[in-house]
Amino acid sequence: MIIITVFSLLSFLLGFILSYTNYIFPIKTDPVINKVNSILPQSQCAQCGYAGCYPYAKAIIEKNEKTDKCIPGGVEVISKINKLLNLNDSIEIEEINVQNTPVVYTTVKIDEKNCVGCSKCASFCPVDAIVGAPSFMHTVVQEFCTGCNICLFHCPTNCIKIIKEDRLC
Ligand code: SF4
Ligand code: SF4
Repeated sequence: MIIITVFSLLSFLLGFILSYTNYIFPIKTDPVINKVNSILPQSQCAQCGYAGCYPYAKAIIEKNEKTDKCIPGGVEVISKINKLLNLNDSIEIEEINVQNTPVVYTTVKIDEKNCVGCSKCASFCPVDAIVGAPSFMHTVVQEFCTGCNICLFHCPTNCIKIIKEDRLC
């Protein structure tokens, strides 16, 4: 009982110190990076070559990274970012339309009869598109799948397959 009370008091004290420090020295975030980040789809799929949407937004602002790297976002996202940053987007969008018309989006499907319920795929899915409990069958919620294919590499029974789907942007 005494140990629990001591740990509770310590947790409270540490929480108070952290909140106070944050109040005195607030973490400064660049509002423009936040705006660019809010335009990105938040799939955190890393297809842009960065660890997630925020790092990519940061690279656009701080390292002049190109605005056409977000595959799930497509032309719409490029346009919005370019508009926000007053960039001329005609060349980038033109190139994308020529190369990728129609853009082929992929999602994945789990061959449920071969699923052993290891749940590795679900733990690696950046958008929580895979549902299922450990030791039970798993399935992919298609509406949420961004087609990043990260789960494919973590399935020990190779039971996740890509579904190709054409959609015009
Ligand atoms: S490709 Fe787009 S959605 Fe995926 S992490 Fe990068 S910015 Fe986010
Ligand atoms: S491909 Fe796999 S990991 Fe990527 S979003 Fe779809 S279900 Fe999740």
